[in-house]
Amino acid sequence: MDYVKVAVPVPLGRSFSYAVPTELEGTAVPGCRVLCDFGRRRVLGVVIDRGPTAPADVPLEKIKPLRAVVDAHPVLPMDLLSFLLQLSRYYFSPVGDVVRLALPSVARSAKIVLADQGLLDNTKLKTVGRMVQVAELTGNELPELKGQAVAVVAKLASDGPQLVSNLQSLHKNARSVLKSLESRGVVRILKKERRRGRFFCAPAIRDQAPSLNAAQREATESINAALDEKKSEHFLLHGVTASGKTEVYLHSVQHCLNQGRSAMVLVPEIALTPQLVSRFRARLGDEIAVMHSGLTEGDRFEMWTRLRGGELRVVVGARSALFAPMVELGLICVDEEHDGSFKQEEGVRYHARDMALLRAHRSGAVCVLGSATPSLSTEARVRGGKVTRLSLPERAHRASSMPTVELVDMRRMGPGPAGDKLLSLPLCRKLEAVLAAGEQAILFLNRRGFAPAVVCESCGQLAECPNCSVALTHHKIAGGQLSCHYCDYTIRMPSECGKCGGKSLGLEGAGTERVEDQLAKLYPEARIARLDRDVAAGLKSEKILDRMRAGEVDILVGTQMVTKGHDLPKVTLVGVLNADTALSLPDFQAAERTFQLLVQVSGRAGRAEDPGVVMIQTRNPEHPAVAMAATHNLAGFVKQELRDRKELRYPPYAFLALVRIDGPLEHEVEAFAARLAAVAQKNVITGVDILGPAPAPLARLRGRYRYRFMFRATARKALREAILPIVRAEVPRKLRVSVDVDPVSML
Ligand code: ADP
Ligand code: ZN
Repeated sequence: MDYVKVAVPVPLGRSFSYAVPTELEGTAVPGCRVLCDFGRRRVLGVVIDRGPTAPADVPLEKIKPLRAVVDAHPVLPMDLLSFLLQLSRYYFSPVGDVVRLALPSVARSAKIVLADQGLLDNTKLKTVGRMVQVAELTGNELPELKGQAVAVVAKLASDGPQLVSNLQSLHKNARSVLKSLESRGVVRILKKERRRGRFFCAPAIRDQAPSLNAAQREATESINAALDEKKSEHFLLHGVTASGKTEVYLHSVQHCLNQGRSAMVLVPEIALTPQLVSRFRARLGDEIAVMHSGLTEGDRFEMWTRLRGGELRVVVGARSALFAPMVELGLICVDEEHDGSFKQEEGVRYHARDMALLRAHRSGAVCVLGSATPSLSTEARVRGGKVTRLSLPERAHRASSMPTVELVDMRRMGPGPAGDKLLSLPLCRKLEAVLAAGEQAILFLNRRGFAPAVVCESCGQLAECPNCSVALTHHKIAGGQLSCHYCDYTIRMPSECGKCGGKSLGLEGAGTERVEDQLAKLYPEARIARLDRDVAAGLKSEKILDRMRAGEVDILVGTQMVTKGHDLPKVTLVGVLNADTALSLPDFQAAERTFQLLVQVSGRAGRAEDPGVVMIQTRNPEHPAVAMAATHNLAGFVKQELRDRKELRYPPYAFLALVRIDGPLEHEVEAFAARLAAVAQKNVITGVDILGPAPAPLARLRGRYRYRFMFRATARKALREAILPIVRAEVPRKLRVSVDVDPVSML
């Protein structure tokens, strides 16, 4: 008899063993879903291993038989499964949690699968697709038309086949009009499977690949050569903003498809980059899967099924798309690889860029990491010979040059025209010139809301969140509100101080709302728009950017949403209102982040013919991150920062793991943090040191107190050994411990 190890999609650290009963002989291979008894429940799990030897850690009589096997063929391809298991070990994450990442919830719901009793065929599960009606002209000669029929036929003639529901929303009699047109042979009504997701609303307009410039050609040839050799090679595609990196991805994806293999493109935040999706559809057609958080479970399942079946061979998506069930994966491209949003900050705390390298390695695929400002971690891999650098040194449009950057030293500036230091005089002068010339400006401030702090002018009391140790931000919405940007606690703006009853509350500091306000006062004739999370839920960010592209906006104020890869050709001024916010964070990556942010935001200026100007307001003009961003001195910054990291023993010269402990009572959290740290100290191995425990910089979050300590090791193996006793430690009720390997956020 054989035994299997099953990952049950519940957050438990280990897998569970079951016996394969004789009637299921020959089935239940690794990667298949199985039904098994788990306590009193019947759950759906995934077989991760199988063999003839009975597990040593469980008495034989306790091993239950599998109940049923759901899939005739593995639902997770072998290379994906082995990647998941390795990821689970790397991050010390429960194998059940990790397997969940790769299965849409529909595919792991025991209820749905049980409802379907012919369990041995997973094509049976493909019942989620919905049908829609599409109307098209038959091409027969048109009779004389009257009323709405004229408009409906005109629409079909000019724009091609239309969803019946679309026509109905345009013309309220469309359905009956179409029926009568159908009976007269003018129109045909077809049932089609619905094309899912908002990225597919508009039809794709196909384009032709431009001929590549020399640098692009060289890069593409290196990638394609690796594809031809079927070798897992890793590349850094290092190209300034608008140097044509996306074109290189497109060419290599095409090459990979021509080989009959499939490809994956990961982007930081897909909601902010609908243009990228359009470009992929324009080149490759609609046979691509787009994975993003806005998909319904049905959509997600449909994409997953079609990818799994090999019907779709390209997936474009945010970090979670890394777990798509690709058939014969040949290529993974990670665009903007330096971006922090590739790190998942809850549950399984994986980094999609690091794991893309691992998955590519496991699948024999090529991995391309693209960026204008590569992360230091990738730079270190290049230096270590694990990743090959491919450079695109110039912008793809010959005419466009890099913007000039001016630093505005805020230590020497008095109040600007609005009476404070938010908008300096030189920046305002430049803004006026841009407005006079009918050009556009972007102003960047990494803070949403009106004012980040509200302070009583009599007693100095700061309005704080009752759940988190942070100040509440004042927003102008609905007559004034205070809200917490960590837990979303919101109250009406009070009329007096909660402590002393003082009537005058000062609004300190500035967020994007305040900038917008001041600009409106200074330039009443200018058209101003704001782009941050408060105004740009879902599709709205695209609407705002469309207005910008259409020239309906003169000044766009925003948070880092404006720094992502938007193509805004008419922008000739980019203002960074405060370059110092990110620098002051208690984080060894502060300089790296500041540098990347400044270079990226500068890249928004002068993309087309107009050379742009970037003005950076700062109190630290000599800081290397600021000074070298201003001169586009990437190599200089990387060299200096790597030297500093080496001296201070930080990554990439050390390996870190952050252990976070949180709970409702501070003294319990503190005591347990001390105990865990003592366990760690006792087991400490050479080459590992322990920093802390101490309260986290964000000492309370959502009503829970937070402590932490950090492991720092010279070798990854030593780090792993040091962490193990922590992962195995028993955690008191109500407390939580999480281990964050290669942490990105230090808060
Ligand atoms: P990146 O991804 O590096 O920001 P893109 O691929 O978006 O750069 O290219 C920037 C612009 O240049 C796009 O409008 C793109 O269509 C255009 N472009 C890229 N490569 C070429 C080329 N070889 N010939 C003409 N235009 C190109
Ligand atoms: Zn809060």
